[in-house]
Amino acid sequence: MTEITLYNTATRRKELFEPLDPTNVRMYVCGPTVYDRAHLGNARPAVVFDVLYRHLRHAYGADHVKYVRNITDIDDKINATALARKNAGAEGTLEELVHERSDQTMAWYLEDMAALGNLMPDHSPRATQYIDEMKAMIEGLIARDHAYEAEGHVLFRVRSYADYGKLSGRSVDDMIAGARVEVAPYKEDPMDFVLWKPSTDDLPGWDSPWGRGRPGWHIECSAMAYELLGSSFDIHAGGNDLTFPHHENEIAQSRCMGHDFARVWLHNEMLQVEGKKMSKSLGNFFTVRDLLDQGVPGEVIRFVMLSTHYRKPMDWTKGKAREAEATLRKWRAIAEGADDGRVPKAVVDAVSEDLNTPQVLTEMRRLAKVGDRSGLKAAGSLLGLLGDALSDWDWRRVMTSDGVVQFIGDGDERHGALARDVGSKWMRLRIEKNYPEADNLKAAAEAAGLLLRDMKTVVQAEMTSAFNPAKLEALK
Ligand code: AMP
Ligand code: ZN
Repeated sequence: MTEITLYNTATRRKELFEPLDPTNVRMYVCGPTVYDRAHLGNARPAVVFDVLYRHLRHAYGADHVKYVRNITDIDDKINATALARKNAGAEGTLEELVHERSDQTMAWYLEDMAALGNLMPDHSPRATQYIDEMKAMIEGLIARDHAYEAEGHVLFRVRSYADYGKLSGRSVDDMIAGARVEVAPYKEDPMDFVLWKPSTDDLPGWDSPWGRGRPGWHIECSAMAYELLGSSFDIHAGGNDLTFPHHENEIAQSRCMGHDFARVWLHNEMLQVEGKKMSKSLGNFFTVRDLLDQGVPGEVIRFVMLSTHYRKPMDWTKGKAREAEATLRKWRAIAEGADDGRVPKAVVDAVSEDLNTPQVLTEMRRLAKVGDRSGLKAAGSLLGLLGDALSDWDWRRVMTSDGVVQFIGDGDERHGALARDVGSKWMRLRIEKNYPEADNLKAAAEAAGLLLRDMKTVVQAEMTSAFNPAKLEALK
């Protein structure tokens, strides 16, 4: 059996992973709040924990792993987006607009995550489908004196759970001192958090013993995890921005209901862009879809994500994307047509060592170098790379350069030589300031399927689908 070690936030050390039941390994990952397109940072947990899912399936058998990633479709941000649309003149009631927005965003999310090569989780529960289960849990907490009703709200009594703060390593008093807790007159203690809150008539709401309202975010995950994975399960994961308060609150709610809840807690570090925090005000905020639309292949995004260990801050840079693309072109050319072999032991060992994906990529570089095609392919499968799912980009185009002319095309040396001859001639004409003839040559080359571009120090010659060697031969 593969020995897997994982860093458990709850114990602050790497532990040997021992599932409660090896025939039913269970993991829960906090999914998106569906109010807008997923930004690049949101893709990090989806990709990282998809690799964990693949690895567990590899180790325990595909039928023995259950992966739940929820969809938070009840949230003030969704309501705010819908309200903005209504104010801008969109048709329909606010409630209809809220549903429209969350349906649309969920579809976008699933589409974008698939474009990054992520497998679909076994369950993607939506919070709105589990309202009864949430209400039952809230009633249970009230009955056990861990929660109380106040002015249409139900609040969790944080001081009633002695272990509160253990996951994130804070004491309740520290948290009060440093936290942005909402002080409200109806709270017994400022730390107490909302399990249920009232809804106005125009917003989505559900009848309950505490009036018409909606659940708080934290109880959603506790209830859905319990319904789909049971009172104790193996892994709970998400970004480290969720450790406190979201995961701390999930633990408090579930434990106070007598559930053991998750045993291993995994948290990915945050993603940055070119060394800076991604934020709308810095203008470096972008979505997964923005990158895909700019022509960055999903496979390249995935590769870059996996080139940093999930517990380190990761930096998205254009340079990394270019390097990843070049490597993937090479690897795909090598692995093309190869059957998946056994996953090489060094690769299994690296993933097993707290998901050391950068080490796997190093190992794949070695496999590519020695020409182990099926080993490379199999290692790729474990990371979700080099497969059919992400093959729909023009990875066959290779870039060759003789220093003056850079050829972007199919890698056929005769085509490269032709492109270099035509490209050099174009450059000579421009150096001689013979612009009319240079322009004529450029137009003729384009008609023959070769785009010429002046890149200051080099000429770039890119092959198109109209590439015609005979016509280009005549232009040399
Ligand atoms: P949200 O929709 O904000 O609840 O986030 C969905 C998931 O994305 C959560 O697991 C977050 O922890 C994670 N996440 C949000 N921002 C980032 C970021 N910049 N880098 C990595 N993960 C992030
Ligand atoms: Zn959650």
